[in-house]
Amino acid sequence: MTWHILGAGSLGTLWAARLARAGVPVRLILRNHERLAAYQAAGGLTLIEGDQASQYAIPAELPQTKAPIQRLLLACKAYDAENAVAELAPRLAEGAELLLLQNGLGSQQAVAQRLPGRRCLFASSTEGAFRQADFQVVFAGNGHTWLGDPENPQAPLWLEELQHAGIAHQWSPDILMRLWRKLALNCAINPLTVLYGCRNGDLREHPAEVATLCAELSELLQRCGQPAAADNLHDEVLRVIVATAANYSSMHQDVAQGRRTEITYLLGYACAAAQRHDLHLPHLHHLQQRLLDHLRERGLPLN
Ligand code: NAP
Repeated sequence: MTWHILGAGSLGTLWAARLARAGVPVRLILRNHERLAAYQAAGGLTLIEGDQASQYAIPAELPQTKAPIQRLLLACKAYDAENAVAELAPRLAEGAELLLLQNGLGSQQAVAQRLPGRRCLFASSTEGAFRQADFQVVFAGNGHTWLGDPENPQAPLWLEELQHAGIAHQWSPDILMRLWRKLALNCAINPLTVLYGCRNGDLREHPAEVATLCAELSELLQRCGQPAAADNLHDEVLRVIVATAANYSSMHQDVAQGRRTEITYLLGYACAAAQRHDLHLPHLHHLQQRLLDHLRERGLPLN
């Protein structure tokens, strides 16, 4: 069975290269003729691991290609997911499976709603990769990927292919709990690193602010029916701040490089959920306002 992979960015390349070298059939879907021509000129995807760079000449096609898709890895940003899938919907076979790699929450549900009769698996990953140049990706941090389907606890048989490809993963019967937990960690750390213009570790200078946010986020998780995701949240946030002290958060990197953030699917999603539940979380709400002001001042998208 061919894996179609939409998005030859950081994670798309990381997955495509590992599947292809394990002998799994892979095809990339690139957004338009210009990107396809640039890809062909580059001669393939290059994955850099340590001091070793390897190129993979994976076949690529446009979204409008006619061939049906049985299995799709959606490796674009959360804000691109719904449109990308809408374009591909006519090609998705009945019973097709999609693996959604987007961070945060909201985009997965929007995609799944558009696709009755297809199975949408959600993923949460701690792997790290970044684009060094067009179609050249650096594998920056080993990690783990949890996969699950909120509608069906049965793991698909093809997880074996991931094993074979050396993609560290685990089937998670409660993937929503994992995604909520990661979202809460992100909300407690990333926006503050943007506002203070600092590394994760520098948040140790703002203990009261971090603690207040964790308390509000825990309340939100409880109210949203995710008590396990609230368990010892503050302790884990402090642990992550220490363990990643030298790093700049992904949101900090996006803002520093003038790129659109995934705010709508992270802090925006949390604030919208609080509002839906009539939950008054003043610090979280104020954080969102400060972050939006910060993005506005820099001319960056607010969604
Ligand atoms: P990325 O490097 O920006 O790659 C996204 C890719 O999607 C780009 O190559 C983009 O194409 C492509 N794309 C967008 N819309 C498309 C369309 N309609 N058709 C075809 N291609 C399309 O992003 P990323 O870092 O891989 O992140 C993907 C998701 O994984 C995000 O939600 C992110 O938060 C999450 N994540 C990333 C990491 C990481 O280490 N990078 C770790 C954990 C989670 P162009 O090249 O043409 O713009």
